[in-house]
Formats: sequence, C-alpha cells, structure tokens
Amino acid sequence: MSIASNLNSIKASLPEHVTLVAVSKTKPVSDLIQAYEAGQRIFGENKIQEMAEKWEEMPKDIQWHMIGHVQTNKVKFMAPFVNLIHGVDSLKLLQEINKQALKNNRIIDCLLQIHIAEEETKFGLDENELNELISSSEFKELKNIRTLGLMGMATFTEDKNQIKKEFQHLKSIFDSIKEKNALQEASTISMGMSGDYQLAIECGSTMVRIGSSIFGGR
Ligand SMILES: *Cc1c(COP(=O)(O)O)cnc(C)c1O
Repeated sequence: MSIASNLNSIKASLPEHVTLVAVSKTKPVSDLIQAYEAGQRIFGENKIQEMAEKWEEMPKDIQWHMIGHVQTNKVKFMAPFVNLIHGVDSLKLLQEINKQALKNNRIIDCLLQIHIAEEETKFGLDENELNELISSSEFKELKNIRTLGLMGMATFTEDKNQIKKEFQHLKSIFDSIKEKNALQEASTISMGMSGDYQLAIECGSTMVRIGSSIFGGR
C-alpha cells in the first residue's frame, strides 16, 4: 500500500469532526511529500530539531504539531512556526512557550497532557494538578498562549477495556472542565494512535495522531 492510499482510507474512515495529524517522525521528507501531495496539511513530529528541519524544507502551508515531550530550552526553535503543542504538562513550560510566543509576536496553541496510562514513563498531569494549574493566577496571566484542550496517551497494551477506560477518563476530565468553564477555548481532545484511534473516537476524541498506519513501521 502506498502512503497516499493509506492516508485516503484512514481519512475516509474518520468522522467529520475528527482532525487527522499525520505523525511523520523519523520519516524522510520524500515520504511527507507523498502525504502532502495526497492532500495532508497537518503533520506531527516528536523532536523539535527534526520538525524545524522539515519545516524549512517543506511547503509553507503545512501546520506543524509538536506531539512529543518538550524541553523548555528548545521551545525557542519551534516558536516561530509551530501550530499546536500537544504535550504541555507544567506551568514552567507554559511560561516559556508564552515568552517565546511573545518574542515572535504570536499566540501559540497548546494542549495540556493528562497522564491516563498505567506506565509511569508517560508524561502528564493528573486531574488535581490540571485543576490547580488552570485555576492559578500565573496561568491566567499567559496572554500569548491559547489552551485548546487536552491530550493523552493510553497504556501500551492489547487490553481494549483498559484502553477504553483510560480514554473515557480523559473525556470525563475534559467534560468536567467544560462544565466549570475552566478553559473557555477548549474544543480539542487529542487521543488515539494507529492501534487505538477507532476506540478513541468512540470515546470522544476530536484529534487523532496516526503514524505507522500511514507511513509504515518505524
Ligand atoms: C509516535 C506517536 C504517535 C503515532 O504512533 P503510531 O502508533 O505510529 O500511529 C502518536 N502520538 C504520539 C505522542 C507519538 O509519539
């Protein structure tokens, strides 16, 4: 199967309200161009330097999403062009993104990463930390970021019930902040990858991050 046909069949299976992020990490620009020529305009990368290199080489109507863990000292390298940062999980990082956004005279969109998986290695906030963060005065002062919603990654397991429970947990946290109107611009729940995106959509995902099902294994 070609990249274009993989992409087209995935796109055909997504409901209208779900945005597809084509995760192109580790893949060469020639692969990304195939997806671009098939109409894809949103790409996800997990390393800032690799994303910046691809941004320089690729057409400028692409939206670049940072889906990986972000180190504070590297924010400046993506601040001129990044469209959405998925994995934000601390006030310190938000403050740095805000500072770099201001320098670039931009507003940068972010998602707050919630820890829903069992593994300790996956980054993210728990529900209490999230509530504390978004109700803090420091957070409210950040005028050059816009928090569009939440992101999460399920446990790497074959157990569909476990994954479903974790996605439902993220959805319930999202619903509760919407109910409290704690994040006025929240509209996005980024959850679901190649192996679990259908389940994620059933559980309320509005943005799926799909790599290997489009570009092949890494
Ligand atoms: C790599 C990655 C993906 C895509 O994974 P696939 O299984 O290849 O679809 C999605 N989200 C994050 C955060 C990733 O690092």
